[in-house]
Amino acid sequence: MNESQIAVTRSSMPTLEEYVELIEPLWESRWLTNMGILHSRFEEMLGQYLGVPMISLFANGHLALELALQAFNLSGEVITTPFTFASTTHAIVRNGLQPVFCDIRLDDFTIDPSKIEALITDRTSAIVPVHVYGNPCAVFEIERIASKYGLKVIYDAAHAFGVRFAGRAIGTFGDASMFSFHATKVFNSVEGGGVSFADPRIREILYRLKNFGIASEELVDGIGSNAKMSEFHAAMGICNLRHVDEEIAKRRDVHERYESRLGGVSGLRMMLPGDGVDWNFSYCPVLFDETEFGSSRNEIYARLRNAGVHPRKYFYPLTNTFASYRGRFDVDLTPIARHVAKRVLTLPLYPDLDLNDVDRICDCILE
Ligand SMILES: *Cc1c(COP(=O)(O)O)cnc(C)c1O
Repeated sequence: MNESQIAVTRSSMPTLEEYVELIEPLWESRWLTNMGILHSRFEEMLGQYLGVPMISLFANGHLALELALQAFNLSGEVITTPFTFASTTHAIVRNGLQPVFCDIRLDDFTIDPSKIEALITDRTSAIVPVHVYGNPCAVFEIERIASKYGLKVIYDAAHAFGVRFAGRAIGTFGDASMFSFHATKVFNSVEGGGVSFADPRIREILYRLKNFGIASEELVDGIGSNAKMSEFHAAMGICNLRHVDEEIAKRRDVHERYESRLGGVSGLRMMLPGDGVDWNFSYCPVLFDETEFGSSRNEIYARLRNAGVHPRKYFYPLTNTFASYRGRFDVDLTPIARHVAKRVLTLPLYPDLDLNDVDRICDCILE
């Protein structure tokens, strides 16, 4: 992408010197992966930063979620949202589980807790909600339903790095939460992911699942995967974690500029975090109402692309309409999600996005 083009995101990186300083000892130790020194250090730093008692690192967020679901020995049906990235639904299906799609709330795009109970059957084993755009789900309602029916709750918190809600770290809700440290996220280790969890027994289960089910040198008692995080990725994570607060503060400035330009414009709705949310400014989704605004989402998308701006239609298409699942799900059962997916556009947002570029983007939308 050349100079004048603006992508939807841009990966945060430390200086080369900072990274080299951390990885240099690896040429001596030759301990490149398999839970090395940097891995332990990163795990400890993350647990502290995220305010979670326990966290386990993975090669990426998707494998973290897939193995977290496996760790809880789920069966049958899992209630989830279609307004998410492919990973959430695929992780459920790849575990041999049946996703049951619940509609979302129009105000914050998270799973609608008032519609969950009607979907529970005697085959339901878990709820997999998504803190989409870093917006906390209705965690207390979900907790109440889960305990009433004896269901596990595993959050897809891929967008929610560093978010707090009602005075609590987001990763302390539910039985487990998956965080993604992919290059495009608020915080990255190039590729990487983590699972925070409440029950200490889960630690060992996750450890084996990410390391081929190996219990000891001569005992393999699980059918595990390989989802270990390497030392090079951990080093990148450690460096980026030192700067993440500044990066989030810069994101806030960019988001505030969008708010000042686009807030209150008729036919256009920005998503603002609700009460009690300490947000991470991860994304800038905007809903366009064609009749009121005068242009459709797709028209705005095309106009921005012509001007060298590359927003994304996150999340369109809905996962319950994917070609891979053709004929399996009925999108009519999630009308709000369908409504939002048709109107949403996620605008460029990253720490170093120039405020003049934000103005250029807003001018283009409002022209
Ligand atoms: C990014 C993302 C994932 C997957 O994380 P990776 O680290 O890219 O594997 C899962 N769910 C959601 C909602 C995401 O945005």
